[in-house]
Amino acid sequence: MLSGVHKKLGIRGKFLFISTLSIVLCSLAVFMVSLKEYETIYIDSVKNNLEALVANVADDLLFTFSEDPDSFILKNKLLTFERYEHILYADVYDADWNLLERYAKTPAKAIHLIENPKYQSLIAQKAPFPVTHIDDVLVSMDAIGNPKFPVGYLEVIHDFNQPISNSRHDLLIKSVPLVLLILVISLIISWSMFKRIVTPLIRLSAFTQQVKHSRNYTLRHASEGVSEVLHLSQDINAMLETINQEHQLNQEQNKKLRQQQISMFHLANYDHLTDLPNRRYVMETLKQYLLSAQRHHTDMAIFFLNVDRFKDINDLMGHTIGDDLLRHLSQMMVRCLRPKDTLARLGGDDFLVVLPDLPDSGTAKQVAQAIVDQLKTPITIGQWEIQTSVSIGIAMAKASDFDIDTLISNADIAMSHSKTVGKGSYHLFKPQMLRQKRRTLQIINRISTAIDNHEFFLVYQPKVSRQGAVIGFEALIRWKSPDLGMIAPSEFIPIAENGGKIGEITSWMLCQAIQDLAIIQSICAHPVIVSVNISSKDLMTAQLESVLHQALSTHQQEISHLQFEITESSYLEKFDLANQFFSRMRALGSSIALDDFGTGYSSLSYLNRIDIDTLKIDRQFVVNSFKSDKDAAVLNAILALSQQLGLHSCCEGVETAKHARYLIEQGCDSLQGYYFSAPVPLENLAQAVHTSVQKYYQLFIHERYI
Ligand code: C2E
Ligand code: CA
Ligand code: CA
Repeated sequence: MLSGVHKKLGIRGKFLFISTLSIVLCSLAVFMVSLKEYETIYIDSVKNNLEALVANVADDLLFTFSEDPDSFILKNKLLTFERYEHILYADVYDADWNLLERYAKTPAKAIHLIENPKYQSLIAQKAPFPVTHIDDVLVSMDAIGNPKFPVGYLEVIHDFNQPISNSRHDLLIKSVPLVLLILVISLIISWSMFKRIVTPLIRLSAFTQQVKHSRNYTLRHASEGVSEVLHLSQDINAMLETINQEHQLNQEQNKKLRQQQISMFHLANYDHLTDLPNRRYVMETLKQYLLSAQRHHTDMAIFFLNVDRFKDINDLMGHTIGDDLLRHLSQMMVRCLRPKDTLARLGGDDFLVVLPDLPDSGTAKQVAQAIVDQLKTPITIGQWEIQTSVSIGIAMAKASDFDIDTLISNADIAMSHSKTVGKGSYHLFKPQMLRQKRRTLQIINRISTAIDNHEFFLVYQPKVSRQGAVIGFEALIRWKSPDLGMIAPSEFIPIAENGGKIGEITSWMLCQAIQDLAIIQSICAHPVIVSVNISSKDLMTAQLESVLHQALSTHQQEISHLQFEITESSYLEKFDLANQFFSRMRALGSSIALDDFGTGYSSLSYLNRIDIDTLKIDRQFVVNSFKSDKDAAVLNAILALSQQLGLHSCCEGVETAKHARYLIEQGCDSLQGYYFSAPVPLENLAQAVHTSVQKYYQLFIHERYI
């Protein structure tokens, strides 16, 4: 039960309960001891008084006995006891123990006494005895006269209980207020002690609760109370100080940790150069958007973007300019997007745009067009004014079955298609692009083995001078694949260029052409020149030159029998490299032809700065010059320009006698085309030379007959 009380009471209640209980118990104990002591003292005093009284009355009775007492006198004497409230009984005996007189106040008690064995044994001794406590009375038997020779005996019975209970009652009456007073004083003292000791403790406890709930470790407790509580409170304050310092340190570390987390998140998810989301982050975003689009049956698009000719810009202008360009491009592209669209840098010059919630591919194309248009503005970085573009591949989520890998692959394929078709363009993915991509991969994967398996061979197309002599041949490569059939160079050459295989092809072609030189020279009575086609990618490796010299020395041929054909666009793409390479080649004795002239750049100013021998005028000018006067004027202008620059002019794609005659009339130096001969294998070259010469003479015979 006490434990129940303990649980219900607070420290204040417990203290009051325990202190009150202990005070009451102590008071009771003290009171009981006092009472007991009081009773002992009282009994002793009653016994002494009784003894004295009995001795006095016995002395009085001696005189009465000396005068031969009668009953009346004795009675009178015994009435002395009337004054004593608690004398119950008094008997006077003569010397022979005969009862002479009796005084009885309450005889009933005597009856009990007579039956008491202790009393009976005392009486049986027939001798005086001192005051004795029997049952609830005190009995005294005294001799009257000399105890050795008594004249009689006086027995007095004194009530014991009544006076004791009276005295207790008196004591209680007197002491209870005192006890109560002491109790109250004790309680007041303990309460004040409580206030001094426990109240500061309770305040301290409330304070710790406040700290616990507010978590405010800067709070301090006003020190108070007795020294232990004071020390406790000071210790708690000191502890709080430590906690607060630790807490602040912790908070600072947490803050640093959070900042580190943020910067780590940024580092992990954002591109350091452009501050755009990186591949990792955009892939996660894309996954979420795809899930949402699939769930809500909406469509979305992604763009795969690649900066056109970025590598050249990097090579030509340096990486710092390249980096700046990427930053500028990112900012320009972001301007074309909605806030909910994401532009991310995947790495290098590859970007990805995620366009959620697009109604159709038409809207996606509009955004792509906006990007293309935006990038038409040249970007000024330092001293450079850069005109660049991006090739964009668009893929729609629905058409890709909301599959992230398919979607990305489709966008990538569409981007490659844009690159091939025309840089700075955008294309929406179509399934045939995938077929094209597969074929591209097949071609790329087969090139090396095709060289080893002798699947490549060269054909030669004669070049006829305006005077009718075969002055040279263009070496053109052919590929007959056992499983893909005849593959045109216009298909596999760009694939090999983009797939890093062109070096292998050029090496093989050069070796073969140089090997064939001896036979070719033997076919013609006069020295002829064999033209080989060089890709801009070939200029980037040292392999070309070493293979060339190796082959020349192996077959003991002169470089002067070789001409290098490079397209106008390839030359300008690798302007410095091309200039250096061709200068070296010219210095060694070979000549250079600028192929497909007129198809690439509108500006002709570069012609002053390059080291070439021949302008190969593109087939389209030959064909178109018969379709419109304007095109005819352009062709004439090119031929005139070539003459003025002191360059040899060669027109390709001469298919008819009409073309040939016209070109000769306009001053073209040499002609190449189906009219004279299609490209033929080496074994048919003698026949082709013969036919070409015949065809030349037919031009004029035919004219004569017309
Ligand atoms: P190209 O250098 O402009 O070569 C001329 C192309 O015109 C050849 O196509 C040739 O067969 C074709 N041709 C010649 N006469 C006529 C004609 O009268 N009419 C028409 N319509 N076409 C004519 P081919 O052999 O298919 O070569 C295509 C392109 O492939 C070449 O264009 C050249 O750029 C490239 N190529 C060919 N062989 C090689 C090579 O060994 N190395 C490199 N890098 N490229 C090569
Ligand atoms: Ca050519
Ligand atoms: Ca050409």
